Amino acid sequence: MNAANVDALYQEIILDHYKNPQGEGLRDDFDTEVHHVNPTCGDEITLRVDLDGDIVKDVSYAAEGCSISQASASVMYELVHGKTVAQAFAILDEFHAMMQSKGQIEPNEDVLEDAIAFAGVAKFPARVKCALLGWMAWKDATSAALSLKEQEQS
Ligand code: ZN
Repeated sequence: MNAANVDALYQEIILDHYKNPQGEGLRDDFDTEVHHVNPTCGDEITLRVDLDGDIVKDVSYAAEGCSISQASASVMYELVHGKTVAQAFAILDEFHAMMQSKGQIEPNEDVLEDAIAFAGVAKFPARVKCALLGWMAWKDATSAALSLKEQEQS
């Protein structure tokens, strides 16, 4: 595919997640809840993480804001739920590196799946925070859930 076709495909993936957000809604079973905002764009997310041992059993969220931030939360849900915490953090690292690369990193589709659609967004510094909002909320909530479980065990 040429570059224009790739851009169109990426936009379609983002639009699709925006219109049909996966895993959306706040569910009652959770370990930790966080609220993150991206003031530069006005995006907000409330996100809950439910860990079962080292498995990310569920991530539930309510997101408001631009299509990129909402679509990114949907993709994040798809990629991390059901994975081990270690696997999910590895995907986060890959996504974070791509978003910080200003479009210079060739994204690894095997790891990122639909999240490669945000490769184009990485070229626009103002939108990078939109794409990272849900992921950073997940990281924050998961880190808090892990330390909570450590405290319970000691
Ligand atoms: Zn935004």
